[in-house]
Amino acid sequence: MAFIQYAVIGLGRFGSSLSQELTQLGHEVLGIDRDEEKVDEMSDKLTHTVVADATDEEVLRSLGVRNFDCAVVAIGDNIQASIMAAILLKELGVKTVVAKALTDQHAKVLEKIGVDRIIFPERDMGVRVAHQLVSPNLLDYIELSKNYTIAELVVSRRISGLTLKELDPRAKYGCSIVAINKTDDVIIAPTAEDVLHEKDVMVVIGTKEQIDTFESRAI
Ligand code: ADP
Repeated sequence: MAFIQYAVIGLGRFGSSLSQELTQLGHEVLGIDRDEEKVDEMSDKLTHTVVADATDEEVLRSLGVRNFDCAVVAIGDNIQASIMAAILLKELGVKTVVAKALTDQHAKVLEKIGVDRIIFPERDMGVRVAHQLVSPNLLDYIELSKNYTIAELVVSRRISGLTLKELDPRAKYGCSIVAINKTDDVIIAPTAEDVLHEKDVMVVIGTKEQIDTFESRAI
C-alpha cells in the first residue's frame, strides 16, 4: 500500500473516525477543524492537527494543503462551508478531493466543482445495514457494476462439511465461489473438492438475484 498524505477537514464523528483509521493504516494525516475542542480531542491521535477555518484560502495555502495527495471535506452541517472548502482545495490543485454530501443538491454542486469522489456516509451505511439485516449470512458486499456483485457469505452449520461440488452454486444458482476465507488460511480459486466449514467466509460473485437466491435457499 502506498504511503499517502491526507488532509481531513472537519473532525466531527465522520471526519474523526476516518482520520484515525487512516492514521492507523500508516498514513500521514493532517486534521483541520475550526473548533478548538475537536482539535484537542484528536491532537494525540493524528500526525498533525490544526485549528483553522477551511473556507479561508490564505489559511489553506499557509498550511501547505496543496502538497497533500488527498483532501477529504468532512464538514457535515454547513453546506456553504463544505462547498467553499471544496472549491479552494480544487483551485489549490490538490490531486484528489473527496467530500461528504448531505443532500442530492449538495452533491450536484460538489460534482460541478470537480470533486473527485462524493460520499453519503449515512445513506450508504443505511443501505449496507439493510442488506445485512435482510441476509443474516451476508457480511459485506461490493457492487462491481449495475448487475454484478461480490459478496462475503458466512457458512452456516447446515452446510458445514459439504464440498463445493455438493453445494454446486454455479449449476444451481449461477454464482461462483472465488475464494474461501478460513480462520487460518484463504483458499483462492477453490476446487470442487474443497470442503466448507461453519464460520468460513465464502467470497461469491454473481448477479444480486443469484446471490440472494443462493443465500436464502442454500446456506
Ligand atoms: P458529523 O456528522 O461527522 O459529526 P459534524 O457536522 O458534527 O459532522 O462535524 C463537522 C465538523 O466540521 C465540526 O467539528 C465543525 O467544527 C467542522 N467545521 C465546520 N465548518 C468548518 C470550517 N469552515 N473549517 C473547519 N472546520 C469546520
